[in-house]
Amino acid sequence: LSADKYNVRRKAFASIQARDVDYFKSVLGEERVLTDEADVLPFNIDWIKNCRGQSSVVLKPKTTQEVSNILSYCNQRKLAVCPQGGNTGLVGGSVPVFDEIVINFMLMNKIISLDDVSGALTCEAGCILENLDNYAREHNLIMPLDLGAKGTCHIGGNVSTNAGGVRLLRYGNLHGSILGVEAVKADGTIIDCLKALKKDNTGYHLKHLFIGSEGTLGLVTKVAIHCPVKPKAVTVGFFGVENFDNILQLYKSAKSSLGEILSAFEMADNGAISTTSKNLKLPNPISDYPFYVLVETQGSNEVHDEEKLTKFLSKEMESGLILDGTVTSEPAKMNTIWTLRESISGAGLARGYVFKYDVSLPQQNYYDLVPILRERLGDKAIGVYGYGHIGDGNIHINITVPEYSKEIASLMEPFIFEEVAKLKGSISAEHGIGFRKPQYMHYSKDESSLQMMRDLKNLMDPNGILNPYKVLPEVNV
Ligand code: FAD
Repeated sequence: LSADKYNVRRKAFASIQARDVDYFKSVLGEERVLTDEADVLPFNIDWIKNCRGQSSVVLKPKTTQEVSNILSYCNQRKLAVCPQGGNTGLVGGSVPVFDEIVINFMLMNKIISLDDVSGALTCEAGCILENLDNYAREHNLIMPLDLGAKGTCHIGGNVSTNAGGVRLLRYGNLHGSILGVEAVKADGTIIDCLKALKKDNTGYHLKHLFIGSEGTLGLVTKVAIHCPVKPKAVTVGFFGVENFDNILQLYKSAKSSLGEILSAFEMADNGAISTTSKNLKLPNPISDYPFYVLVETQGSNEVHDEEKLTKFLSKEMESGLILDGTVTSEPAKMNTIWTLRESISGAGLARGYVFKYDVSLPQQNYYDLVPILRERLGDKAIGVYGYGHIGDGNIHINITVPEYSKEIASLMEPFIFEEVAKLKGSISAEHGIGFRKPQYMHYSKDESSLQMMRDLKNLMDPNGILNPYKVLPEVNV
């Protein structure tokens, strides 16, 4: 249980009674209120199987009004809630810690409208990212974000975590792409900021409060998002590289050679690719190299784009920055390369437990922590490897161990966050703070910023019922 593992005490919320369950059933009907232990269990465990809560009730609203009724009741009764999307979050934010009521958005999955002139797509929070992308593609558009969990994560979860992903380099983060949000405050008030306008400078930009606040300020019920035009041509290159410095040189060169068509620039070290390839039996299209780089272009002219990337490959093979590589526009081959890259996140789980870190660092220092951690952990770790979105300075460090141990955890934390702070990085690049990182927030935020966050929380959720134990550090820490 998360509470024992991380030594957290339950706050003084009310405990759920039979009359509460009766009330929820009166709002949602019998089938959308889960109370059977076996039914509730999967909603209590996070994707990485690190956190486990003890909730006895899962609610599945279908409308904003139902969410509002639930929250208004919970607020009056001082019952704590844990909002949940696809439950793919990697920092334990999406599962309860104690007996918080889970409010899962899976049934709020309707697409409301798509304006194929402006590209504005409006939908409910529980729509699965991949379904939205498929829908947008039918209208010659795409979703501006893409991540390995796309087949499961919800757009409401993406907004609540301000998810990044592999195309942030090209389309920016969700603070730019989200046009509007509808959300419900802790007391049940519905906040309608669902405008689908590109420009709307009418006072405070309230929608931004819900982007990245991980369900602690309100529950996102609807989203309007700007979808870019579907690229006519996509080309992917996968390259072997000798050392990390060469990756940085290559990134610089890719920006100038590929310019406006560059849509992703990802890296992975040998450990990341070989573990994924071995554990998940996925083919690696080139042979064994110390580092790998995946470059994607999205443009409007296939011949021209592929030629540009192929030229880039031959130029950089000549310069020695690339040791070997392949370039393709064939969907099946591109898919093989992307699958290898996107499967790294879960590959270590096949052989034990994985400590996962998601940090931002200045690009010069991007890979510094991997060798430091390797040395620190020695043979206590099966593997320490780094991969991620180098264009955004965002590295993921995975440490695979035979099983979770407090000793190994204490060797890494707070050490890794101290190192990140020394390098002026961020302790969370894109996964959020969730349950796993509030006590380390001070490495990335000063005390006055933290106080302002607490003030906002008190204003919007005075009883603290929304996703307690998450994001905000305890005052005495
Ligand atoms: P959940 O995990 O259910 O919830 C995440 C947080 O948001 C929780 O705090 C939850 O309480 C809150 N929340 C969920 N829905 C709502 C709502 N409607 N209203 C209010 N609060 C809500 N992340 C990236 O940023 N980039 C990546 O490249 C990336 N790759 C991944 C690859 C894999 C294989 C996996 C498993 C995860 C990856 N992630 C990545 C992490 C994760 O997918 C994202 O954080 C995603 O945005 C979470 O969406 P979700 O619907 O699963 O939310």
